[in-house]
Amino acid sequence: MRWESNIPPAINRKLQIAQLKGRYMDQLRCGEYEFEIIDKNRQLVVKLDKRTCDCGLWVISGIPCKHAMACITKTRDNVENYMDDYLKKVAYLKNILQQNPCNFRRELMAERPI
Ligand SMILES: [Zn+2]
Repeated sequence: MRWESNIPPAINRKLQIAQLKGRYMDQLRCGEYEFEIIDKNRQLVVKLDKRTCDCGLWVISGIPCKHAMACITKTRDNVENYMDDYLKKVAYLKNILQQNPCNFRRELMAERPI
């Protein structure tokens, strides 16, 4: 497994799917970090600075939902800025090290440039 970013591949795939689903949603910027977004005739408020969306998925999973991804994409900001550290590479590798040091070594080897 080779990682190109600070986000584990499994979470990265979820983000890509969320980004695709949120691609064509109408959104209105209401503030620096606040958006109103329409999804299937339902109006939702996304607050990027508080990492919340009215759908509730972002708070539960820690991974930006499709509504949040639509807003993050619009701001052209890096999605990593809106994710908790426990979902990033460092926490993932630390967790692997605690469980099985051999796996950690394998992960480190995969990170080295060819
Ligand atoms: Zn949402």
